[in-house]
Amino acid sequence: MARLVIVSNRVAVPAEGSGAVAAGGLAVAVKEAFTAYEGLWFGWSGNIVDQPSDEPTIIDRDRIQYALVDLSPQDHREYYSGFANRALWPIMHYRLGLGAFSRSDYAGYSRVNRFFAQTLAGLIEPDDIIWVHDYHLLPLASELRGLGIANPIGYFHHIPWPAADVFNSLPASGDLLRAIADYDLIGLQTEPDVQNLTRNLCDTLRAIPLGAGSLMVDGRRTRIRSFPIGIDVAGFKDAAEKAASDRTVRETIAGLRTRKLIIGVDRLDYSKGVPERMEAVDRFLASNPDQRGNVVYLQIAPKSRSDVPEYEQLAREVNETVGEINGNTGDPTWTPIQYVTKAYARPVLAGLYRAARVGLVTPMRDGMNLVAKEYVVAQSGDDPGVLILSKFAGAAQQLPEAILVNPYDRFEVAEAIRTALYMPRAERLARWKPMVERMTREDVDWWARNFLSELENFRTVEREPPTAAAAAE
Ligand code: UDP
Repeated sequence: MARLVIVSNRVAVPAEGSGAVAAGGLAVAVKEAFTAYEGLWFGWSGNIVDQPSDEPTIIDRDRIQYALVDLSPQDHREYYSGFANRALWPIMHYRLGLGAFSRSDYAGYSRVNRFFAQTLAGLIEPDDIIWVHDYHLLPLASELRGLGIANPIGYFHHIPWPAADVFNSLPASGDLLRAIADYDLIGLQTEPDVQNLTRNLCDTLRAIPLGAGSLMVDGRRTRIRSFPIGIDVAGFKDAAEKAASDRTVRETIAGLRTRKLIIGVDRLDYSKGVPERMEAVDRFLASNPDQRGNVVYLQIAPKSRSDVPEYEQLAREVNETVGEINGNTGDPTWTPIQYVTKAYARPVLAGLYRAARVGLVTPMRDGMNLVAKEYVVAQSGDDPGVLILSKFAGAAQQLPEAILVNPYDRFEVAEAIRTALYMPRAERLARWKPMVERMTREDVDWWARNFLSELENFRTVEREPPTAAAAAE
C-alpha cells in the first residue's frame, strides 16, 4: 500500500481507544483520505513550549502515524497569530483594511515553514505522496524541494483565493506566488478561485498556460484545479435523524412552542458576517411587525482566535448588537436573538438544523462554508427548511437553488428571510432536492478521492517535460 503524508498546521490525534479520528473539520476530511492509504499526519501538536525539540513526537494509533512538533511562544505569535491570521487570513478574505503585515511576523512564518520541512524531510520515503493543507503552509513545498524532496506534493487551500490586486497588496505576495508554484498540484475550492490564482501567476510571474489547468512557472510545471470540499453526508443525515433524542435539541424545540426557528452557526470570525446578519434580522422584524413574537433567531458562534485583537473587537461588537436588538425589540415573553458562544457537537447541530425553518448562512466571504451543506443535508425530506446563502461563499457555486443574497445588503437579506418563512412546501422541496442530491454525490469522500487520484498522476506522466507544441499552446 502506498503511503500518504498529510501535513496541516494542527493535527487532531484521537483519544486513545476511541477507535475513530477526532471530529474536527479537517479531521473528517483526512479520515476519508486515509481509507485507501497507509498514513502519516504531520503538524503542530497545539503545545507551546520554550525549547521545541527538532525531533517530532510519534504516536501510532488506528493505522495512522501522527508526527507532532511543538512551537515556541515566538513561533506561535509570529507564524500563527501574526502572519497567518492577521495578514494572510484577512487578505484572502478581501479585507484589505484589516490586514496587519509585519516583517517579523513574516520572518516567523518562513522560519516555521522551514522548521516543518526540516523535521518532516527525515520521515519521507521515496514512494510517499504528500498532501499539504491550508494557508499556514504555503511555502512548505518550496522548503521541501530545497532539501531535495522530489515526491509528488499537493496543496489544498481551504479559504478563498482573492483577485490579483487584492492578493498583491500583501508585501510578501511575490515570494508566496513563486513558492506555491513548487507544488505539483494546487487545489482550490471554486472555479473563480482558480481563475484568480491562474491569472495572477500569468500576469505577475509570466507563467505559461499548458492547457487543462497546467502552468509552467519559472521552469517548473504545476497544475491548478478546483476541488470543492464536501461533508460526510451519510454520517450527518444519520445524526440529524437520531438527534431528536438529544436533550439540548429536545429542549430547544420545546422552548420554541409555536415559534419558527432561524439558525446561524459560525466560528466568531469577521468573515462570517455575524453582526451584519443580526442587523438584517432586526430589519426583518422592523418591516414585518406581525412576525414579532413568532420567530426566534438562534446564533451559535463559538469564539476563535481570541488572542488576535480583531477577534476581541468583533466579540464586543456582537455583544453590543445582540443587547441592542433584544433590548429594543424583545419583550418579557420573547427574546428575538438567542446568542451562544459555546461550541456544540455536530450531532447536536444536526438536530438544531433540522428543527430550523431557515438556515441563515451569510458570510461576507468564505472559501466554502460547510455549515450551508450541513443545513441542507440535515433537513427532513417531507418538510425541508430553506437555506439563505451568501453569494460570496464558495458553497454558493454548488447550491444555486438556495436563496442567494448579498450579505452587505441588509434589506435584501431581510427580504430573503420573509420569502423563506412564507415559502410553500412545493417550492421548498423543489429547491432542496437537487441540492441534497448534489451534496450526496459530491461528498467528502468524492473530494478526497478526486484530489488524490490527480496527485497520484504526478508519480509518472505529469513529471514529463511538456512537448514543444504544448508549451507553445
Ligand atoms: N461546528 C461545530 N460546532 C459548533 C460550530 C461549528 O462542530 O459549535 C462545525 C460545523 O458543523 C462545521 C465547521 O465547524 O462543520 C465549520 O466549518 P465552516 O466551513 O462552515 O467554517 P470554518 O469555521 O471552517 O471557517
